[in-house]
Amino acid sequence: MPLGETPFDRPREACGVFGVYAPGEDVSRLTYFGLYALQHRGQESAGIAVGDGQTVLVYSKLGLVNQVFDEKVLDGLTGTHAIGHVRYSTTGSSARVENAQPAFMTRRDGGGIALGHNGNLVNPLDIARELEDLEIEVDASTDSHLVTALLAQQDTSDLVEAFRAVVPKLMGAYSITAMDEDQIVAVRDKYGVRPLVIGRLPSGGWVFASETCALDIIAADYIRDVEPGELVVADKDGLHSYTLFKPEPRLCVFEYVYFARPDSELFGRSVYEVRRAMGKQLADEAPADADVVIPVPETANAAAQGYADRSGLPYAEGFVKNRYVYRTFIQPSQTMREKGVRMKLNPLTQVIEGKRLVVVDDSIVRGTTTRETVDMLRRAGAREVHLRVSSPPIQWPCFYGIDTANRDELIGASKSIDEIRDFVGADSLGYLSVDGMLISTGVPTERFCHACFSGGYPIEVPAETARTKHVLELPVHPSNGNGRPKRAVEPVPAEPLPGITSE
Ligand code: SF4
Repeated sequence: MPLGETPFDRPREACGVFGVYAPGEDVSRLTYFGLYALQHRGQESAGIAVGDGQTVLVYSKLGLVNQVFDEKVLDGLTGTHAIGHVRYSTTGSSARVENAQPAFMTRRDGGGIALGHNGNLVNPLDIARELEDLEIEVDASTDSHLVTALLAQQDTSDLVEAFRAVVPKLMGAYSITAMDEDQIVAVRDKYGVRPLVIGRLPSGGWVFASETCALDIIAADYIRDVEPGELVVADKDGLHSYTLFKPEPRLCVFEYVYFARPDSELFGRSVYEVRRAMGKQLADEAPADADVVIPVPETANAAAQGYADRSGLPYAEGFVKNRYVYRTFIQPSQTMREKGVRMKLNPLTQVIEGKRLVVVDDSIVRGTTTRETVDMLRRAGAREVHLRVSSPPIQWPCFYGIDTANRDELIGASKSIDEIRDFVGADSLGYLSVDGMLISTGVPTERFCHACFSGGYPIEVPAETARTKHVLELPVHPSNGNGRPKRAVEPVPAEPLPGITSE
């Protein structure tokens, strides 16, 4: 990471979910590759659950997808259907393996439910209190595990009925894949804040995924989105749709700006093309007298190309990115810092020296990373640095599954544009307007959540949640066995896969 960057100076995606119902296919490997394509949505833990008509088996662990799974583990995960999850924590400690997903709970009839969740509930304490009243103890501290526990407590063995009973109690954003021994389901809150799509394998199997890029990697065709407020079941009889709520679409616009992969589509619009359009709009709104346009790789690449196209300035790559760096908690030593060791980005002096640069980035959270980036460019000989941001200032925290930091940590909430320019050390600074961002999507503007830019929250945030530190730490109870996952696997890859057995 650049000098001075903390692991928390970028918006962080909450999670990616995946599900496949495909008897006769290698569902665990299909899920593995689906998760591999969704790795950008969460890098703290990964997990897969499989079902075979008799049992539900779960394997999850802290780490990247290719660190968590190997051939032997996948060979032990057989069945007709599977769900998978990659996680970045917005509730609960990321360091606890118990918080990895899919979450698992034993139903009252003795069967199992596994669940993966992308999003964030704004009323997790309500769910925690209800479980407490039921004397159900949960071995994890995430809203997702609480929802799984509540589903498991319903007096029905029908997963759809359980969801029908539970979803009216959930406030917030959720795109969920879940499963029992016989089926998988995909559920989306009525606002559809987080994406969730349906695909079909050439064999006829059904797939659910956070983004279309996870369909491409397994050669599945995109069929349609799971609609906001819809529950879709895939089982031996095909696909079944249930409307749980009247939809009021409010997709997170930040998915277009930063989170989603550029080769994905949202609302039927290419993320790459929308980012280019944002760059063009930015060039109209914030022109600069400069020699060359460079992106802060890689999320801003398309916006920088759009800016260059519209402005007539040449586009160049001004940084080399170490593409194999995901996250590190090991900070450079002071000596390394003084020598300017940068793990993630390194400037290309040949492109930068003596030039007046337009530097396009996708967003600024706290400003510390941006300040170091500008400093890097100046040290590499840039004559002028004109920073252009392809989204508006982030002024409000997100309560719907993105970790954008607390309000008092957001530089856009406390400083004027000029003050931010001075803080980051740029010669000029220009942001895309809220209207410009929304227009660039080509989608009716009322279909988006843009609360972190505008403060207009589409889902009411209870005062106790708004008061709480942004990353909630939910109560954790030591298990007394009542709510303990019956078939959840303690993820210890060892000979011969000791965890992957069912009771
Ligand atoms: S508040 Fe911002 S990051 Fe959160 S869902 Fe809305 S647009 Fe997305």
